Amino acid sequence: MPYTLPELPYDYSALEPHYQAENLEIHHSKHHAAYVAGANATVDRLAEARGAGDYAGLVGLEKTLAFNVSGHVLHSMFWKNLTPGGGGRPEGELAAAIDEHFGSFDAMRAQLSQAAVLVQGSGWGALAYEPLGARLIVEQIYDHHANLTQASVPLLVFDVWEHAYYLQYRNVRADFVEALWNLVNWPDVARRFEEARRATAG
Ligand code: MN
Repeated sequence: MPYTLPELPYDYSALEPHYQAENLEIHHSKHHAAYVAGANATVDRLAEARGAGDYAGLVGLEKTLAFNVSGHVLHSMFWKNLTPGGGGRPEGELAAAIDEHFGSFDAMRAQLSQAAVLVQGSGWGALAYEPLGARLIVEQIYDHHANLTQASVPLLVFDVWEHAYYLQYRNVRADFVEALWNLVNWPDVARRFEEARRATAG
């Protein structure tokens, strides 16, 4: 199996009160697990199609692969972007880059919050590194894989699918997004920023 469900780096109750254990457990053990299963199943179905030389279903399979693998990637990031006792503000080069490209931390925070809150239907808000302009940008991702800037590297992602928050926050997505800021693992985001710049240099 090329894809496996990662363990969370903390207990299901570790993010309370900002993220309820029951909501987090279902999110990880059911929803994320379904993307992993879907990604593996789609890889198998593509191999079968190649073997049979039958590409009648290829358009659907390619879309399904993008959906499930992207869902797996984003959820795997999301868990590590959060940590008990997180929040506050970044430091060092990440903080300086945020100031340079957004004007201030508060301006970036407002843009990312609104990008997440204003997703129509299901999606994500993301802070990302765009290597051609060597810039930080905010992205508004639809589903898991649409409205992306090619080559950009996500650094901090906020899941705003209803499954992410509906048990705890009901219809009030904005309260969930606000709560996530109390959990952000800034050292993890800073590490991703450093690696993204190094990996895309040149
Ligand atoms: Mn999710």
